[in-house]
Amino acid sequence: MPRPLPDTRQLGPCVTVLFGKDQGKYPDGNSVLVRGSSGSLLIDPSQTVHAASPALHVDQVLLTHAHEDHAAGLSAVQSSAISVHQRDLAALQSVAGLMALYGLPSDRIPAMTDFVTERFHYLGWPNATGFEDGATWDLGGAVVRAIAAPGHTGGHCLLSIEQANGPTVVVTGDIDLSSFGPYYGDAGSSLEEFEATLRMLPTVAADHYVTFHHKGVVDDHDEFVAAVAAFSEAIARREAALLGLLEPPRTLEQLVEIGIVYRPGTRPPLFGDSVEKRSIQQHLDRLLADDAIASDGREYWRL
Ligand SMILES: [Zn+2]
Repeated sequence: MPRPLPDTRQLGPCVTVLFGKDQGKYPDGNSVLVRGSSGSLLIDPSQTVHAASPALHVDQVLLTHAHEDHAAGLSAVQSSAISVHQRDLAALQSVAGLMALYGLPSDRIPAMTDFVTERFHYLGWPNATGFEDGATWDLGGAVVRAIAAPGHTGGHCLLSIEQANGPTVVVTGDIDLSSFGPYYGDAGSSLEEFEATLRMLPTVAADHYVTFHHKGVVDDHDEFVAAVAAFSEAIARREAALLGLLEPPRTLEQLVEIGIVYRPGTRPPLFGDSVEKRSIQQHLDRLLADDAIASDGREYWRL
């Protein structure tokens, strides 16, 4: 039975948002199709794209980054070219590369491999190619441009779509403007880079912003800037929570057990501990550098 594509929204002559279930709530997401007069391109094929029948046929697929949910529809799309920013390329080319990007402890890798291959159809695409910051794709009437926005992963990018006779649309990937806030819990993530990206975002002018999860489409620059500010607040909230935990002194293991990222009862069993550890470690490193806390190599405490 053919399964037509789900809800869509047209943003000008060349851009169509293909909404995933529940505004693209994880594990689903919102994909963006760009069709110009001389070429077509799909950004971040989701679970919903994977389930669509007949399969989408495009000239090229671009990913905002190499995470499993953004490639979930990749194996079902007919396309001759797949690209991601070069810093995420190894993760897209093989499952082993993706595991290195996550940085999970070795005893979790078999289960995580099953998770991404079975649930997200992640195959590893050895022929995928990498692009650089500022790369452009001219589709005729629409030009897509990569804007490096690292932190979530090293290669995370915004993809800006400028239309000759229509609005400018920016695809924001996992700068998803959710109440969860920025995710920087992988080995390939960086809190410092994410903060630089968050400072840069208000300078990105567009008529519409499309997030992969949660918000869907934001239709106004001022609203986008306000949503970025609210999204960013999670970082300070986590840091304040961490400082609050450092009286009395605690070890990293104790801090990970309590956590600063996931609300109680929501920590994913497969990778949640690892995400807490990587996130907490980055905050601790910064607080140590700022002389806000001290450590004897085992425990951490407030100064
Ligand atoms: Zn992601």
